[in-house]
Amino acid sequence: MKNYRNFINGRWVESPRTFEDISPVDGSVVAVVHEAGRELVDEAVKAGHRAVAGAWGRTSAAERVDVLRRIADEMERRQADFLAAEMADTGKPLAMASVIDVPRGIANFRTFADILATAPLDSHRLDLPDGAYALNYAARKPLGVVGVISPWNLPLLLLTWKVAPALACGNAVVVKPSEDTPGTATLLAEVMQAAGVPDGVFNLVHGFGPDSAGEFISRHPDISAITFTGESRTGTTIMRAAAEGVKPVSFELGGKNAAIIFADCDFEKMIDGMMRALFLNSGQVCLCSERVYVERPIFERFCTAIAERIKVMKIDWPHDPATQMGPLISAKHRDKVLSYFELARREGATFIAGGGVPHFGDARDNGAWVEPTVIAGLSDDARSVREEIFGPICHVSPFDSEREVIARANDTRYGLAATIWTTNLSRAHRVSEAMRVGISWVNTWFLRDLRTPFGGAGLSGIGREGGMHSLNFYSELTNVCVRIDQGSEQ
Ligand code: NAD
Repeated sequence: MKNYRNFINGRWVESPRTFEDISPVDGSVVAVVHEAGRELVDEAVKAGHRAVAGAWGRTSAAERVDVLRRIADEMERRQADFLAAEMADTGKPLAMASVIDVPRGIANFRTFADILATAPLDSHRLDLPDGAYALNYAARKPLGVVGVISPWNLPLLLLTWKVAPALACGNAVVVKPSEDTPGTATLLAEVMQAAGVPDGVFNLVHGFGPDSAGEFISRHPDISAITFTGESRTGTTIMRAAAEGVKPVSFELGGKNAAIIFADCDFEKMIDGMMRALFLNSGQVCLCSERVYVERPIFERFCTAIAERIKVMKIDWPHDPATQMGPLISAKHRDKVLSYFELARREGATFIAGGGVPHFGDARDNGAWVEPTVIAGLSDDARSVREEIFGPICHVSPFDSEREVIARANDTRYGLAATIWTTNLSRAHRVSEAMRVGISWVNTWFLRDLRTPFGGAGLSGIGREGGMHSLNFYSELTNVCVRIDQGSEQ
């Protein structure tokens, strides 16, 4: 049986309290995880501050670029281990984890190495009335010890998305992965050791949220900033805790994302794209579409085509390279998703596809599987259409005009992502800019350039990460203002 331990100040630390990491494929135990208490979190924060006050805090940007590249190289060498750990924890299909989760985890370190290597800094000259001038320039310094709290849906990808820029800026981190997916974060600690990252720079604590490592990080008085990805409700709790010390926060939270499909779209490409937008990672990507608006002339055709594609979807063992969809993350999350299937039924939805649990007749019947599901017929104010479900389910609804669909798509307290399908160029730009979201895709979905701003409006988050936006969040910028007097005549 694997043991996932905490990693603090360059040492592996056990704890008397442990919990089980369960496979959602068949309910088997993947590993025993050592839960960090308040004292271990405190040790991790102290170790982080010592590292930043010591040699790590004095490294040049060029040295940190090298460190990030060494981390990426070591991750690449251990790619197979990362893949196995991610699949064991999540049940993700090989076809997804090998193309998205692990390569993107590595790419995060390479991308932020490149961004740091070429990052500009502000410099402004101010002419003064007496003929002198002032030269202003910004100095980039670390914030200190950053708390990184991450979710289970893209465990390695989302953790490294924050750890890479935090280290690039010279910070130390105290990282807490989700209790459901502790595996790849533990491997990342091994990689840090092998890549020669100094002790105390990367600290890993395992555990839960309330009254556990998550809360101990977010309430710790000496944590310098908190970066969090997860549910909007959890974001509220963490923000309250961070308010006490006026800590900077960066939040990537939930969504109830709209897809808008115009009758003039390239139908086959749209169906391919929408199958991903609805069911990738069993619908457990924060960017997945859960509200689908289809222009009335193609509404029936859309429903029929999606139902046909679902019929031939391969929902199977994650290691089968042809598998397209695996289980949900846990029995608890399956119960939540199933409760929404039930709610939709009570609200009067028509089920175009799915609505139940697949039966396999083998160990998978102990896992956390549900069917890909499409519902219709609900009004825009139904709870199933307003609340984030975070599973392979969407509601489809017809629309008649551009103005109507923009208003309906924006009628949500969330504001993460939209996907718009049309071949009309002007409409594509018009509608995507009108979306009150952090990212609008046109004729595609989940296509990411890591230099671009990423985040959400409303309940979907605070701040933007990506490219320079990340470097700016993870840095304390000091403006140096130098008065330069006129020279004397001689
Ligand atoms: P979650 O909020 O339940 O948990 C996320 C992390 O926070 C976990 O590590 C958890 O242990 C910790 N946590 C929970 N309660 C806490 C507390 N009181 N104090 C401190 N830490 C606490 O979210 P989840 O279920 O793991 O992830 C799914 C959610 O994440 C969905 O809402 C999804 O939309 C969102 N998400 C958003 C993005 C984005 O980029 N916007 C990306 C992925 C997932």
